[in-house]
Amino acid sequence: MAGERVLIIDDSNEVRDIIANLILEPAGYRVLTASNGAEGFRMVVETQPDLVILDEQMPGMTGIQVLRAMREQNLQIPVIFMTAFGSEDLAVQAFRLGVRDYVIKPFEPPEMARAIDRALTEVRLRRERDQLVAQLEEANRRLQQQLQELNALYSIGRSMTSQLDLEVVLTRVVEAAVFLTRADEGLLLLLDSESGDLMLRAAKNVDEQRARELRVRVEDTLAAQVFHSGEPLLIADGQPKVVTGYLVRSLIYAPLRTPERGTFGLLGVTNRERQRAFTSHDVRLLCALADYAAIALENARLYEETETARRKLEAVLRETEEGVIILDPEMRILLCNPAAIAALRLPAGGIVGRSAAALISNNTLLNLFWKARQGRRTHSAEVWIPGGRIYNAQLTPVEGVGYVLMLQDITQLKELDRVKSEFLATVSHDLRAPLTTVRGYVDLMEKVGPLNDQQREFVEKVRRSITHIAALVSDLLELGRIEAERELEMELFHLEAVIDAVVDGFRTVAAEKKLELRWELIPLPLIRGNPHRLRRVIENLISNAIKYNRPGGWVAVSAVQRDGYIIVQVADSGIGIPPEDLPHIFDRFYRAQRPETEEIEGTGLGLAIVKSTVERHGGRVWVESRPGEGSTFTVVLPAAEEGAMS
Ligand code: ADP
Repeated sequence: MAGERVLIIDDSNEVRDIIANLILEPAGYRVLTASNGAEGFRMVVETQPDLVILDEQMPGMTGIQVLRAMREQNLQIPVIFMTAFGSEDLAVQAFRLGVRDYVIKPFEPPEMARAIDRALTEVRLRRERDQLVAQLEEANRRLQQQLQELNALYSIGRSMTSQLDLEVVLTRVVEAAVFLTRADEGLLLLLDSESGDLMLRAAKNVDEQRARELRVRVEDTLAAQVFHSGEPLLIADGQPKVVTGYLVRSLIYAPLRTPERGTFGLLGVTNRERQRAFTSHDVRLLCALADYAAIALENARLYEETETARRKLEAVLRETEEGVIILDPEMRILLCNPAAIAALRLPAGGIVGRSAAALISNNTLLNLFWKARQGRRTHSAEVWIPGGRIYNAQLTPVEGVGYVLMLQDITQLKELDRVKSEFLATVSHDLRAPLTTVRGYVDLMEKVGPLNDQQREFVEKVRRSITHIAALVSDLLELGRIEAERELEMELFHLEAVIDAVVDGFRTVAAEKKLELRWELIPLPLIRGNPHRLRRVIENLISNAIKYNRPGGWVAVSAVQRDGYIIVQVADSGIGIPPEDLPHIFDRFYRAQRPETEEIEGTGLGLAIVKSTVERHGGRVWVESRPGEGSTFTVVLPAAEEGAMS
């Protein structure tokens, strides 16, 4: 490559001219000349030529002295040394001082031209090599940096996504952003879902005052622009810009977003002091970090949400007075609140994960667990804790969880009920004796002397009233007994046989009222229950169907089985029940007040007894009725399990 600068240092004009005019200029080199050693050395220092052609013998500073001076200054410029014939020693010295080549005077121009070419080729090669090395080093440095950044990004990303504490994640993200982009400051803004404002949630190196003030509205800042476009923003022109009230030389804002939530925040780095402008490489880095950060933040947010919900639930469960046990589908305890632990006298710790059946010994509860496993519906039972309290236990299957067992303390209600029943029983019992006496004397009245018609009529009224009071007392006693009985005496029997007997018993009364009594006995599965109590249920229903009927009407009794249940229906063609009375007829003492029922005697307790008894058997009773057309009472009772023994 021509154009290189060659300095000739020689005191001979002739030699300088030959070299310059015949060799260097035709070859396109740029020529510099010096006519003595001192001038030559000065020019070497000042012009830093590509090649020096140096004569040895010069007045003043010799060629060797120039070489020494160059070495002292550590000037690495190639030199062609010219000596007179016979001074080989000098040549050796010159080589030691670093000359490249050496030409003996007088020389032929081609010889000098070759030497120059050799020296400069070497220079060029070295320069190219140096350039190449520099380029390689630069590439290597960049590669190393990228590797480091990638490494940093990877480990930051990993440490962030494994972290579930939202505040920690926020701080780490900003610190990583500042570290990766070598920024002055970093900040992280998140959208406040309630106010719609972007809120500063974490910052690095941002002064406190600013951090407090930074509460920017989405509509009017660069942040808003990024937020709306979802694209990163780079300001790198070096012109200070006012951003959120501060002068910033360079800035990157990268959106924080996930596919589900869209853009929900922004990660920013700024250079306020530093002159360095961010590059597109920094943008890529920050965006990569923002992607990691978005996932980490979303994870942490979801975790925090679930944690909050869990803590709330835990607090509610802890504080609630009702016992709650949450079970998995295998009936292992997932959660048990203190009320449940106290109620069932469970050990205070180490019960989570254990089988409920292994921890709970109460038979009613064990039976409830067993039933719940058979059919996926809610089962409930009254649980008596020996020597302790009474709970209403409800076991409900919950999709995706397992089961929830609720224990409601009904001890006090039970006690009240017991006191009331006891009171009723005592009063009824105490009324019986005087009633019997009154009736006895009324019966005697006619026998001790003749009564006039009016007296006879009065006696009849007294007798009817006594019968009514006696029925009332008897019903009250019965209801009291049903409610006071803790466990009904149960046995396996055929309900259809009981119904058959009851229907038979009513045939005469029905005939008297000119009523058709329909009943067809169909064999049914066994039922587990109290035959005496269920007989009273059927009696009450048929008795009502006859009482509230009209001459010439009908009463139809049926009993069938369906899906493990026995369904008994007592229908009549009677007066029916007005809709406003329907919700109350199973209440104690409730009687529909209508002209048609005025003459019909009753206590208002029959259906209360029916309902109480049916429920004690785990069944249900209800009525459908139309005034003027008739009523149908339906009783559903569970049939005994197949294979059950009496
Ligand atoms: P009662 O002793 O008055 O018959 P119940 O408890 O047996 O008491 O019935 C409550 C009320 O329900 C009755 O007073 C009556 O008004 C109504 N009722 C019961 N059964 C029938 C029926 N088969 N038809 C019409 N009304 C009925």
